[in-house]
Amino acid sequence: MITKQPVLNIGLVGHIDHGKTTVLYHLTGVWADKHSEELKRGITIKLGYADVIIHKCTKCNQYAIKKTCSCGGVAEPVKYVSFIDAPGHEMLMATMLGGAAIIDVALLTIAANEPFPQPQTKEHLLALECKGVKQIIILQNKIDLVTKEKAIEQYKKIKEFVKGSVAENARIIPICAQQDVNIDQILEEINTIESPKRDTESKPLFLIARTFDINRPGTEIKDLQGGVLGGILKSGKLKIGDIIEIKPGESLKKKDQTIYKTVKTKIIALRAGKNELQEVTPSGSLAIQTALDPFMTKSDGLVGCVAGLDNSLPEISYTLKLKTTLFKEIVGAKEQLKIDPLKTSEFLMLSVNTSTTIGKVMKMKGNEVELALKIPVLPFKGDRVGLARNYQSHWRLVGWGEIL
Ligand code: ZN
Repeated sequence: MITKQPVLNIGLVGHIDHGKTTVLYHLTGVWADKHSEELKRGITIKLGYADVIIHKCTKCNQYAIKKTCSCGGVAEPVKYVSFIDAPGHEMLMATMLGGAAIIDVALLTIAANEPFPQPQTKEHLLALECKGVKQIIILQNKIDLVTKEKAIEQYKKIKEFVKGSVAENARIIPICAQQDVNIDQILEEINTIESPKRDTESKPLFLIARTFDINRPGTEIKDLQGGVLGGILKSGKLKIGDIIEIKPGESLKKKDQTIYKTVKTKIIALRAGKNELQEVTPSGSLAIQTALDPFMTKSDGLVGCVAGLDNSLPEISYTLKLKTTLFKEIVGAKEQLKIDPLKTSEFLMLSVNTSTTIGKVMKMKGNEVELALKIPVLPFKGDRVGLARNYQSHWRLVGWGEIL
């Protein structure tokens, strides 16, 4: 029996040129970086999002995403999963961290024909650590472009590199995405991964990773469909008709000040891929259609917010207390830089769930820091926050903090 909701949310990470989009295409049949109108309007597929049902051939046991196997046998559905493509560009580190907040499994793509390790590859691995992602599969891509000896040499380097990291026990799969080589191995590996334990008993918390307007331009007001929220349900259950609140919500400019207004609305529809659902529980990517003015959800207008049942979310906070762990070195830059301890009055970029804010260090005591935030967040005790510091006008990951 295949589930109605994806059981895993899988993120593709790694250097921008190492073939992530091609990998995603061969895993899902969807070109993630196409800016086509169709993709822009799709409810379940926005840039970088796609759902897939993994099939297994009943005759030759090969894994595929199609019902008919290349051997001529019939493939049966075994697992329903969702994918997201995290941006590889260093400027989008904040987005990448936000993406890492909602994934269960990361596919780290490394090009076999490029020097290893690349600064960005290192930084993405650390970002996964910051956000507590533990399930990692390493894809050694473009193996057709190197000799067998070169591929083995790099494989050894990767093994050495991941020692002591979250990816220490990650399986390394050599692939050539463009020619569909070993894509079945990735699907097979994903199929062996158990879904994390899902909390359906606590209050519902929906982390918003994207929001959009699904109406075609020129739609009559009476035919307009309400704004859509995409993301994951971290805990609890939500059903059609529930009244929800979204925090911090809408940002409004008042004189020189920005204030945040909680947004309240009703759930009109719930979707997982093509499945329309009455009720949803924690899983891979989901979409909530609301009664909101689609203008509010247009172009990711509410990204970074958290949705919960009406009057159930904590107050927004302009301060954050963290227990911090700093890395030894900056890894995203070309040269290696030592990370100095945090200082009072310095500014850090913080990635809290799917949101990004800037915090000023106000107080410090050992590894505990108190920060004043520019954009408020919803602090949940125990959550992991990515910390980045500005070096030569780039935000570089320096460590992570646990919310106290
Ligand atoms: Zn077959």
